[in-house]
Amino acid sequence: MGTRRTGKIVILTGAGISAESGLGTFRDEGGLWSQHRIEDVATPEGFARDPALVQEFYNARRVQAAAARPNAAHLALAHLQEDHRGEVVIVTQNVDALHEAGGAQSVLHMHGTLAGALCAGCGHRWRAPDTMAVGEACPACAAPLARPDVVWFGEMPYLMDEIFGHLASCDVFAAIGTSGEVYPAAGFVREAAAYGAHTVELNLEPSSVVSAFAETRFGKATDIVPAWVDDLLGQTVRS
Ligand code: NAD
Repeated sequence: MGTRRTGKIVILTGAGISAESGLGTFRDEGGLWSQHRIEDVATPEGFARDPALVQEFYNARRVQAAAARPNAAHLALAHLQEDHRGEVVIVTQNVDALHEAGGAQSVLHMHGTLAGALCAGCGHRWRAPDTMAVGEACPACAAPLARPDVVWFGEMPYLMDEIFGHLASCDVFAAIGTSGEVYPAAGFVREAAAYGAHTVELNLEPSSVVSAFAETRFGKATDIVPAWVDDLLGQTVRS
């Protein structure tokens, strides 16, 4: 009694975990994001207005992400998923595949992936070519409406029922490298806390929802995530 179970762990990651792999965050100066307005490249309206600009933007991100390598933080989470006795659920807002490249066995991509293509007409999904062209035909319905399979502002993120189910049943909830500006992900901490989870923020700087966390650890993801994982696995071994 009195000791906290760390049975089931849910981890939400954001752009900050991939920053040290060379993929810019939203707010990084000089990165791909800073050269464009969000409304132009990350909304359905922006795509309708200028599909060529949007395809170019994601083609560039796909090239950049394919060249990136997982860092020590991605590797540490994969190690946790493998060695922790309880379930470890990784939910990511990132559209790169660096968790999987680092060895993670299962990752819930709530904002889609750069590797995917989606038909804006019938909803069919398939593997995206390295370079997507405007007006590319859907292999299922032939409509010339192929778009990147990423969730844009104003669209419903994927896997919400499954994710909220995990938040309601976890013992620990951690958010890593995410600014807390984008909902519904920014609300996950309050949801998990309401169901009794211990909550931890690991970030370079405090997020907008930092006050909702019971514990905070600040620093670079490649320093603080491996240390946190060691602490968690150490607790399990000692108990
Ligand atoms: P964000 O850019 O809003 O915030 C990044 C967070 O990471 C900040 O809190 C910052 O302090 C932190 N950070 C920066 N460098 C870090 C480091 N080295 N170690 C630890 N933390 C660090 O990112 P977000 O919260 O994920 O934003 C939401 C949206 O941005 C998502 O929808 C996501 O799809 C999109 N996005 C994804 C990628 C990607 O897939 N790699 C890149 C940029 C943006």
